[in-house]
Amino acid sequence: MSKPRIGISTKVAVHAGPHFVGYRRIYTNDDYVQAVLAGGGIPVVLPLIGDPAVITDMVGNIDGLVLMGGNDVDPALYGEEPQTKLGGISIEQDTFDTALYHAAAAGKKPVLGICRGAQLINVLNGGTLYQDMSYAKFSSIKHNQEDHPRQPIHAITIEKGSRLYDIYGATTRVNSFHHQCIKDVAANFTITARSKDGVPESIEHTGDTFILGIQWHPEMMSQTNTAAQKIFTAFIAATAQRME
Ligand code: MN
Repeated sequence: MSKPRIGISTKVAVHAGPHFVGYRRIYTNDDYVQAVLAGGGIPVVLPLIGDPAVITDMVGNIDGLVLMGGNDVDPALYGEEPQTKLGGISIEQDTFDTALYHAAAAGKKPVLGICRGAQLINVLNGGTLYQDMSYAKFSSIKHNQEDHPRQPIHAITIEKGSRLYDIYGATTRVNSFHHQCIKDVAANFTITARSKDGVPESIEHTGDTFILGIQWHPEMMSQTNTAAQKIFTAFIAATAQRME
């Protein structure tokens, strides 16, 4: 049987110069490609486009979807006005990622959301976010380590019985590059890991379809951390199982 084709979302980089000022490029991070390859999948990089019919066709040609990290989700998608510490948003990006997610979910295709991807999955299913961690009064540890992407910085505690528990066991240490976090978890999802200050670090769909949202960046750790790679391997194995 052929290997699962794993779609990986992309974002726009606008060139600053000195030449080609304002020139647009569409990209994903190599770590996602490498983690999918190492996990036994065929990486398929999905260019950010606007046509919803073509996006649906693109998802028709993949077996599973990775939603990459990136900018903040537009708070209008969860019914809020922007607060002062909201980061940059892109309606173009939200529209693309939303169409990818809905097409994958409609086809019951496994989805792995990383950082922004996890937050977006929560929002698209009716959940909400803290627009900045400072609004989550209970948050007391450093969740943006700023650099050294392969290094873990904080611990997480994982719920027994979750997909993540099967991968890591009860606890592990993860990297952290987020200034927002999940507030209300979406219906049909459950929080399956938290940092020591109680911040949600993963969500999982409670149904049969593999939909996992991870607040940290396992793709950045995957080349030096066996358990981080196992997230991708488990996701791709679930995708292969669904194809049978
Ligand atoms: Mn964190």
